[in-house]
Amino acid sequence: MVSDASRFLWLGNHRALDFLNTEPVVRGRRVDLLPDLRGLVDWSQEAGFLDGEAAGVVLDRWEGSSEGASVLEQVQQLRRALHALVERLRERKSPSQKAIDAINAILRLDAGYAEVVRVRGEFRRRFHAHIHEPAQLLRPVAEAASSLLCGADPELIKRCGNPDCVLYFYDASRNHARRWCSMDLCGNRMKVAAHYLRQRNGGGASQG
Ligand SMILES: [Zn+2]
Repeated sequence: MVSDASRFLWLGNHRALDFLNTEPVVRGRRVDLLPDLRGLVDWSQEAGFLDGEAAGVVLDRWEGSSEGASVLEQVQQLRRALHALVERLRERKSPSQKAIDAINAILRLDAGYAEVVRVRGEFRRRFHAHIHEPAQLLRPVAEAASSLLCGADPELIKRCGNPDCVLYFYDASRNHARRWCSMDLCGNRMKVAAHYLRQRNGGGASQG
């Protein structure tokens, strides 16, 4: 589902962090990758939260409507709450009740039902989305946020080592030594910058 041509960032290694990463800094400015209902629908589809048929139904019904626009405020609220929650977790502090309330408000929305189906002799769980208001699109995000809070190791929630970068990731690498959102976006750039500084400050002589 996620192609190279995606306009979204899928480097968070956790859907809650991928959602936070929908507001990256590009050339010094914050950019909202979910500025409209279509953006949210496309993101949800690439995230595996929404199938093509349901995406079409959502867009037919709400694209261009005030209800469709109102979900964008909820996107921003949830993203702010999640941002606050993640920062508190990273500081080894308890997240605020306000952030938890924001997540719970979305979790309370009815989203459909799951059923067990037999596929070629194996059992699979299949979820039937039952979307009757656009805010329900955010329910899987709230689920991911709750799993981050209840099940993730806070020490592995990291922010990219580039101080100008605002991207988060869950470091599931074997040695937990991941430093960059991605090598292409920041890793190589920061290495080049560090090399340049070493050259300038000491003619290449290493100071340890
Ligand atoms: Zn980065």
